[in-house]
Amino acid sequence: MAATTTTPLSLSLQNKEEFRCHACGKIPRGKFAFRCDLCEFGLDVCCASLVPEKVDGVGDGELSYQRLKFVGHEHELLVCYKGIESFEVSCSACELPFQIEDSIYVCLECKLLLHKPCAELPLTINHPFHPRHRLVLFTQIPPGERFTRCKGCLRDFEAGFTYRCVECNFLLGTGCASLVPRKFAFHEHPLALFEKTNFNCSKCRCRKCTSVLRCVLCGFNIHLHCFPDLPEVVVGGRYHRHALRLTKTPVQDYEVESDDAEFYCDKCEQERSLPDPTYSCQEGHYVAHVQCMVSKVTNELAPF
Ligand SMILES: [Zn+2]
Ligand SMILES: [Zn+2]
Ligand SMILES: [Zn+2]
Ligand SMILES: [Zn+2]
Ligand SMILES: [Zn+2]
Ligand SMILES: [Zn+2]
Ligand SMILES: [Zn+2]
Ligand SMILES: [Zn+2]
Repeated sequence: MAATTTTPLSLSLQNKEEFRCHACGKIPRGKFAFRCDLCEFGLDVCCASLVPEKVDGVGDGELSYQRLKFVGHEHELLVCYKGIESFEVSCSACELPFQIEDSIYVCLECKLLLHKPCAELPLTINHPFHPRHRLVLFTQIPPGERFTRCKGCLRDFEAGFTYRCVECNFLLGTGCASLVPRKFAFHEHPLALFEKTNFNCSKCRCRKCTSVLRCVLCGFNIHLHCFPDLPEVVVGGRYHRHALRLTKTPVQDYEVESDDAEFYCDKCEQERSLPDPTYSCQEGHYVAHVQCMVSKVTNELAPF
């Protein structure tokens, strides 16, 4: 990407301490970066592979690049696509990688690389996890902040966008801010589904399993598979010809050779954590996340 300069960039060895990439704002992982000979501008090897999208029929040069303005961001963003498959820099807001089909929205002013939904994040939100005050979007971790813990998932992070109530010292990562909690009869506050987290379940006390309905207001957690009245058997129907049974023992649906073998849900094709209960066919043909099956059978859980 040479969007801001007509001088070619040259590859050179970097002194790690000083240089930050002018696209993603990060210190390059490798020793090399592309630098402009005339000014400070430079890109790490990964961001240098970004290809700006062109506006049809405008010829070459600065004006021919596709730029978009979003309400939540004061600068125009360059719309780019990945020039290489192994693009390692993650989104500056959610810290998740860019998928093959994702456009990458670049702010050269703020030095941010964003997914489209992350570029469209509103500046302030009302959130049921902190109903007392509006939360404000922070695009940087304030300097000197010792640790940044999301009050939703309780994860600590060092970078990424956060929604905060400064008055109450309350903050949420953008992932948790996108969760929509729902009211269930067995708990007085709304609960949201957290995946890939380990919370102590108030029903079975285990903390190995990863899908938890959680109340951020009072810290109540319950595994999805400990949900009252979850069906024991789901008739596979259009998913699978055999009945699927709620199975609380780990299901290894293929021969494993090593401890770090990965298992997948046959419904959503995403990874599943082995200790998590599943809905599975007794013949081992079909194994699915609990949340993937109950979303279709339990009306109360329908939004999942
Ligand atoms: Zn970069
Ligand atoms: Zn993102
Ligand atoms: Zn900006
Ligand atoms: Zn979180
Ligand atoms: Zn507050
Ligand atoms: Zn439980
Ligand atoms: Zn509660
Ligand atoms: Zn699934």
